[in-house]
Amino acid sequence: MILSRKSPPLQSTPDASSLQSENEQLRASLQSLLDQAHDNQLILQRHHHLNLKLIGADSLTELLQLIFQDLKESSSLDVVTLLLTEDAFDIRRIMTDLKIQARAFPWLLLSNLSESDFSHAKWRAPRLERFNAEEHQILFPDHQPTPASVAILPLLRHKRLVGYLGFGSADPERFIQGVATDFIEEQATIIAICLENVINNERLKYLSLTDPLTRVSNRRHFELRLREEVVRSQRQSYPLACLYIDIDHFKRINDLLGHQEGDAVLCGVATRIKSELRLSDSIARFGGEEFVVLLINTHTAGAKHVAERIRARIMGQPFQVRNERSCKVTVSIGAAEMKAGPENQTTESIAQDLLARADEALYRAKNSGRNRVLCAN
Ligand code: GH3
Ligand code: MG
Ligand code: MG
Repeated sequence: MILSRKSPPLQSTPDASSLQSENEQLRASLQSLLDQAHDNQLILQRHHHLNLKLIGADSLTELLQLIFQDLKESSSLDVVTLLLTEDAFDIRRIMTDLKIQARAFPWLLLSNLSESDFSHAKWRAPRLERFNAEEHQILFPDHQPTPASVAILPLLRHKRLVGYLGFGSADPERFIQGVATDFIEEQATIIAICLENVINNERLKYLSLTDPLTRVSNRRHFELRLREEVVRSQRQSYPLACLYIDIDHFKRINDLLGHQEGDAVLCGVATRIKSELRLSDSIARFGGEEFVVLLINTHTAGAKHVAERIRARIMGQPFQVRNERSCKVTVSIGAAEMKAGPENQTTESIAQDLLARADEALYRAKNSGRNRVLCAN
């Protein structure tokens, strides 16, 4: 029972005193082992907690925030970088589609290099080294102050290299050769899987909510947004307006130019409408040659103004089509502002009422000669 605190006091004979000092040393080293085990347990718990969050991330933005903030903090790192190779997950296109600004994540490095540029053996396994600008610049470009030691972990999916995770520390002893890498390799594997998973989900979500021809929102997405915006505008008491836009005599355009050129005109019209909107507004293709627009924080007068701008923008310049021919296009637009209904009116019925009144104004615009904007009463 050398380590028991309940041991009777020892006699202060020379033997007893050396035993006591040995006992104290053992107790101290046991305490240190216990402290270390406790610290390790806390680190493991933190990593486990972070891994659950990484696995649970359901958007690319959330996953990137977890990598660049939570992972950095929970692992006490000075910088975390993520380099993705040229063709990894079609990441540039996904970021554009999701309107994720590259500057929101300065340590997300979208490289023009592809897998074959990293074929040298040194790039195929984890590297734990003192920082060396020439070697490591690619993962820590212009990071100030430069890290003292770094870990560079290949990200692999289905045996293909998709990029690297870079950990930088101000501590020169933090990442040195010979230190076990299982822990950080596991982290890199989880991150590679999560990236692929979240990007695939985002892609599916995007495809299910986007019109494939014009790449604006589809009807389903618009209806979801409309309900959300009706709730928000009621809660925050701001006006909401809707435009219903229909291309005039589009059938003739198709008949004259062919369906393919008709498609090009549809895309051009969507682009011109978008160029007249604020970022917070939404546009969707509602049907064949019909678009709807949701204008946030806008009364009828403002909606009419935007609608007139859209009409002028489309009519103002003929569309260039095949064989250097041009085609004049006009649109008719119905505008409506959301009305406060009875208190028990459902969100769905308020949204449908707004759309129906814009549609009714469009119907009148068509019947009174086309190429005009009319507002709902
Ligand atoms: P109005 O001024 O009354 O709106 O006349 P319109 O000819 O524009 O309207 P109508 O509803 O008679 O015809 C719409 C046309 O739009 C018919 C259809 O073939 C065409 N259309 C619908 N979807 C597409 C598409 O995806 N691509 C092309 N090129 N044409 C389409
Ligand atoms: Mg129509
Ligand atoms: Mg039409």
